[in-house]
Amino acid sequence: MNYIPPLDLTQQYQTLEPDIRQAVTDVLASGRYINGPVVQTFEQQFAAYIGTADCIGCNSGTDALLLALRAYDIGPGDEVITTPFTFIATAEMISAVGATPVFVDIDAQTYNLDLNQVAAAITDRTKAIMPVHLFGQPVDMTRLMAIAQAHGLIVIEDCAQATGATWQGQKVGSFGHVGCFSFYPTKNLGACGDGGAVTTSDGAIAEKIRLLRNHGQPQTYCHTVVGINSRLDAIQAAILTIKLGYLDSWNAQRQAIADRYYSALSQIDGVDPPRAIAGGQAVWHQYTLRLTAKAADSDLRQAIRQQLQAQGIGSMIYYPIPLHQQPVYAALGYPAGQLPVVEQVAQQVLSLPMFPELTPAQQDHVVSGVRSALADVVTQVLKTPA
Ligand SMILES: *Cc1c(COP(=O)(O)O)cnc(C)c1O
Repeated sequence: MNYIPPLDLTQQYQTLEPDIRQAVTDVLASGRYINGPVVQTFEQQFAAYIGTADCIGCNSGTDALLLALRAYDIGPGDEVITTPFTFIATAEMISAVGATPVFVDIDAQTYNLDLNQVAAAITDRTKAIMPVHLFGQPVDMTRLMAIAQAHGLIVIEDCAQATGATWQGQKVGSFGHVGCFSFYPTKNLGACGDGGAVTTSDGAIAEKIRLLRNHGQPQTYCHTVVGINSRLDAIQAAILTIKLGYLDSWNAQRQAIADRYYSALSQIDGVDPPRAIAGGQAVWHQYTLRLTAKAADSDLRQAIRQQLQAQGIGSMIYYPIPLHQQPVYAALGYPAGQLPVVEQVAQQVLSLPMFPELTPAQQDHVVSGVRSALADVVTQVLKTPA
C-alpha cells in the first residue's frame, strides 16, 4: 500500500478543481479583491450555517480570536480562563491584548477543559472563558454557559478545529458571545490560503468587530478606534462558499472513519481511542488516541511512530508540550504537576491519518499498523532490563 499521510489536501482539490478555478477566475475578472459581494455572500451563508445573526470574515483564526477579545475590551489586568491543550494561538491572543491566560486542566477522555475545575479558577479579575472544541470534539456548552452566566463572564469559543460540530444539535460557535473560526487550509473548512471568521448574534459586537478589522474606520479615512487590517479576501471567500456546500458530507465521512477506527482500536490493549461524548456530534478534525500501555511515555510513543512510519503510516503529535509548560509562559510560574492530566496526556497522544478521502482499506492498514507497532514496541520495552 502507498504511504498514508496524516492528511492529504490534493484529493479534495482534484474533486472541486473546475468549480474552484471558475470561481477564482470570476473574482479575478471582477476587480473586487477585498470585501465586496463575494465576501458578503460567504459571511451570510456561514452565519446561516452556524446559526448566528452575523458573521465577520477576517484574515485568520488567530485574528478572529484577537478581534473577539478586543471587541469586549479585554486587556491588561484581566484574566481569561482557557485550556493548556490547544494550538498556541488561543492563549497567545489572550496575551497579545495584555490579558493573562489562566490554564485549567483537561478531561482525559475529551481532551477539552475539565468543567469541574473551571469555577474554582474564577477570580475577581476573570473577564472571560475561552473554551476550545479540540480536535473537533464539542465542549459541553450547556454546562459551560451556565458557569459563565452565574459569574457574568464573556464566552469566546475557539471553534478553529470544529466547524460543523454540534452540542445538543446546535452548532458550536453559536453558544458563546462570539465564535472564532479558522479557514487555514488543513481545517475542516479550509481555504487555499489564510482566512478566519467571527460569528455572533450580538449586533453591536458585530459592528465593533467590523470596525476593528478595517482600521477602525466607519467611513473611509475617518478612524474612530485603533483597529487592524484583517479582511477575508474575495478569492478565499469564493472558494469557501463552494466548499461550505460540501462540509457536512466531508464531516460525515470523517465520522464514518472515526467509527471504523473506534470499533477496531477499542479491541486493542494499550490504546484508548476517542469517541464522541453523549450530546455532542464531533467533526474529527483529528483522530487522536492515547497510548495507555504500561510505560507509555514520549519515548515509547516515538518508537511506535517510527514503526508506523516504516509501515507507510504517517502520524502526528498534537500537542507535545502543554501551553503552561511552554517557554513563552515560563513567567506565569506553573510548577510541574500543577495540571497533572494534561501533563500526562501530552506524553501519550498520537494522531492517526484523518481526512475525508481516506479509504476503508487505508483505515484498516492504519489499525493493523497500530496493533503491530504496539505489540513490537511494548514487548521490547518490557524485555529491556531497567
Ligand atoms: C488553527 C487554530 C487557530 C488559529 O487559526 P489560524 O487561522 O491558523 O490563525 C486557533 N486555535 C486553534 C485551536 C487552532 O487549531
